[in-house]
Amino acid sequence: MKIQSLRGMPDLFPEDLEKWHIFELKLLEIFNSFNTNEIRTPLVEFTELFARSVGNSSDIVNKELYSFLDRNEESICLRPEGSASVIRAVIQKKQEQDKHKLWYQGPMFRYERPQKGRYRQFHQIGVEYLGFEEGTSEYELIAMVLQIHQSLGIQDYTIKINHLGDAQAKEKFCTSLVSFLEPQIEELHEKDQARLKSNPLRVLDSKEKSTQELLKNAPKFQDFISEKSKRFLKDLVNAFKDQCNIQIDQSLVRGLDYYTGIVFEIVSTELGAQDAFLGGGRYDNLSNQLGGKDMHAIGFAIGVERIIELLNVKHTSQPLKVGFIIAGEQIDKKTYKIANDLRSANKSIILDTFLSEGSLKSHLRRANKNNCNFVIIIGDDELKNNQAIWKDLCEDGDQELLSFKELIDKYTNL
Ligand code: AMP
Repeated sequence: MKIQSLRGMPDLFPEDLEKWHIFELKLLEIFNSFNTNEIRTPLVEFTELFARSVGNSSDIVNKELYSFLDRNEESICLRPEGSASVIRAVIQKKQEQDKHKLWYQGPMFRYERPQKGRYRQFHQIGVEYLGFEEGTSEYELIAMVLQIHQSLGIQDYTIKINHLGDAQAKEKFCTSLVSFLEPQIEELHEKDQARLKSNPLRVLDSKEKSTQELLKNAPKFQDFISEKSKRFLKDLVNAFKDQCNIQIDQSLVRGLDYYTGIVFEIVSTELGAQDAFLGGGRYDNLSNQLGGKDMHAIGFAIGVERIIELLNVKHTSQPLKVGFIIAGEQIDKKTYKIANDLRSANKSIILDTFLSEGSLKSHLRRANKNNCNFVIIIGDDELKNNQAIWKDLCEDGDQELLSFKELIDKYTNL
């Protein structure tokens, strides 16, 4: 029996990754221009990290965590998201009092029911601004998000944004929401009855019609957050509303327990059921929750598989590609050295060597299929005379015989 990959954990082949590379290059350019630097944290953490940060009552920790006991009987897990690890790392290095502008990328793991746009191993690229209180950092991060969209050619998107107030406002709202819903608990969808007990804010996220009907008369977040917070949200939306579709959405609470202040999510109608491809917000309490000193924090994470679906850009300039064909009987060490010398002479060209035996015709067919602009052909006679054939595949198929020295010169100046 052939061994299969795990469900929801797809392989990514070169043809799949073409768009990923464009995406990564564009993002790197943007992060550099914001002086935001990369951090890499391990894929495996203590389960406790996510129980304390994301929250024991969240789906991510309750149902979706890949956690297991290691050989030392310690509960460890594959990370389901990036923020908690970044904050853990900064606390561990005792740098809570510094300012950090960081980005990270890599696979995340959640035991969800796989479907289009939802995987058990998926990838995120995220940004964390640490040490900056509510204010300009919200503006800067939304501006960064807009730059990302612009540079990727993404046009169909809506930014949904909300303000969750501070921790006390969130607490008071929660209590009031529970008092409102508890007497009518029978009318809530079964799933939401459970949520009301474990994580009441998640009820607002519900997609169930009966629940949404009940929520129409429920207490509203807006009535619990301060005038200052409301004004901040309004000003933020006003600053960007001419450049993009940005809407206040009071039902936006985001799945994780740790958010306070601004939260946002970006959706696209081009994505189908799993329409959110970017989520973020402020989580000033997370450092404390993880045993660190006070540290302001705000960030966002992009779901790479989903944003790739929306990408509307191509490589601006494709590098030239040259096929290297050994057409003789013998595979001589000398030919390997010529290929190596060519690569050293001009690193901007892709030299595609055809390493297996085969007829000249089949090699040429392959070179065309691989989109080579030129081919170098070395047969037995050429090898004997230190020569090579240079053939143009783009235009009318001109070819010339060159000495190895001439070949290197031509390749260098291509
Ligand atoms: P979250 O960490 O839940 O705020 O998710 C941030 C982004 O990651 C979402 O907007 C999605 O684009 C992406 N994402 C979350 N879970 C998955 C998943 N299971 N499969 C693919 N992408 C995901």
